Amino acid sequence: MTTDYTRAYWEKALAETTPRGGMFIDGQLTRSDTGLTFIRIRPMDGKPGAEIARGGIKDIDRAVASARKAFASGVWRKKDPQEKKKIMLRWADLIRKNGAELALLETIDVGKPVMASLNVDVALAANCIQYYAEMCDKLYDEIAPTGPNDRALVRKVPIGVIGAITPWNYPMIIETWKLGPALAAGNSVVLKPAEQSSLTAIRLAELASEAGLPDGVFNVVTGYGEEVGKALACHMDVDMIAFTGSTEVGKLIMGYAASTNLKRVALELGGKSPLVVFADADLDAAASAAAWGCFYNSGETCHASTRLLAERSVVDALVEKIREVTDREITLAHPFEPGAQIGALIEDAHLGKVLGMIEAGVRSGAKRAFGGERVMSETGGYYVSPGVFIAPSNNSSLAQQEIFGPILTVVPFDTEEEAVRIANDTAYGLAGAVFTTDMNRAHRVSEDIHAGTVWVNCYDLSNFATPFGGFKQSGFGRDRSVHAIDKYCDYKTIWQRFS
Ligand code: NAD
Repeated sequence: MTTDYTRAYWEKALAETTPRGGMFIDGQLTRSDTGLTFIRIRPMDGKPGAEIARGGIKDIDRAVASARKAFASGVWRKKDPQEKKKIMLRWADLIRKNGAELALLETIDVGKPVMASLNVDVALAANCIQYYAEMCDKLYDEIAPTGPNDRALVRKVPIGVIGAITPWNYPMIIETWKLGPALAAGNSVVLKPAEQSSLTAIRLAELASEAGLPDGVFNVVTGYGEEVGKALACHMDVDMIAFTGSTEVGKLIMGYAASTNLKRVALELGGKSPLVVFADADLDAAASAAAWGCFYNSGETCHASTRLLAERSVVDALVEKIREVTDREITLAHPFEPGAQIGALIEDAHLGKVLGMIEAGVRSGAKRAFGGERVMSETGGYYVSPGVFIAPSNNSSLAQQEIFGPILTVVPFDTEEEAVRIANDTAYGLAGAVFTTDMNRAHRVSEDIHAGTVWVNCYDLSNFATPFGGFKQSGFGRDRSVHAIDKYCDYKTIWQRFS
């Protein structure tokens, strides 16, 4: 039987839902030791969404102790790989079976269209856990070359207790990007989700437990970054922090690691990704990629194509085509509307920040082509229409700052050399793209854009087989693919002598 996901369906589901806002430690849903809570406001209508436990240092201590106990006991680390695989596959199934509930919780917290939460976020989270489940019984160690009386095993061993700190823009997706490889490698995890998006993290932990993941292997501590996030990153018994978030906080995390126990750090940070369009390109394809690449998820995407570098002769035509694609396809609406393609921004403060950046950009000479305004304010929600601005140069604040809203900044160029120079003229290096029908040029430019992913004549295509992450101040360490396993393991040599 297929469900008809109408607005009425989601309104009814919302009315019948009381989201659980506790923490998940040692296999149990629990309150914070502080007894404190905070109210998460729903971005879609500005109303109270859920009451969330506001964790403190003692909660982090409890969660880390539970994770350490599970790791030391070997209850997961030493489990038969095929058993581990079965548990993780069951977990992926449970995520799918509970997809509608997870999608609703994600939308309550984040304000994205609930059908995107269901068809993209839930689907990719389940697929990610399945991908890494399948790796559990396919990881081999090495035997190093030695003389005949010796045998040197080069074992790939889990690191221990991993602290995962995650952002609010794609909560389930980014959390499973960390949980999948960290758990497949045999580690224990303490997850600190963004304070804006705790609900699905808690449910993911409950479902993992239901699937058979032993107690303590995956814990969730909710609360504020400067409180529990910092306590986790400073903890002396955490072996690694896997962080996704802003470059600013990423720098703090490195400092915390350096000043405590030198725990390892993997950072997935911000971006200001260039999409370069040459005059010979298929302009319809480029316009579609630019619009969807920038406006999807209301621009709250780390690798959004926020800088459109366009050869001067096609700037006007391209902007017009982007307007057409946006009007025709990228419907901004209440997240429960079945046709909504983009929804609300994450919170009131962020709405103010985005509008402030637009104003500052316009004051310093950027020209508004269309959009970039607050809309639907009568709903109480935090909506901004997709907007395109022509910047006087790449030095414009709109071309340099990560806005994290649906704002596309166009920077014209005249030569290939200039295009590459501008593309790389940013603190970030997360992603980029080139549109041209000249394949020699596509080859040159894609090699020269300094970014973790570069697309040619497309944008945002990926699967779990490709690593994702950045260069420069977009961070280091890669999520996704078999390579993500590497960062949650280390090599251990066992040298044996035979007489
Ligand atoms: P953020 O840096 O404000 O917060 C990220 C996480 O860090 C949250 O859980 C937060 O509570 C925590 N935190 C905040 N201060 C902390 C502190 N002092 N110590 C420890 N933890 C702390 O980022 P955000 O606003 O949640 O997310 C948006 C940012 O994330 C953007 O910059 C975006 O580009 C980036 N991002 C990057 C990727 C990637 O893969 N490269 C993916 C998604 C988002």
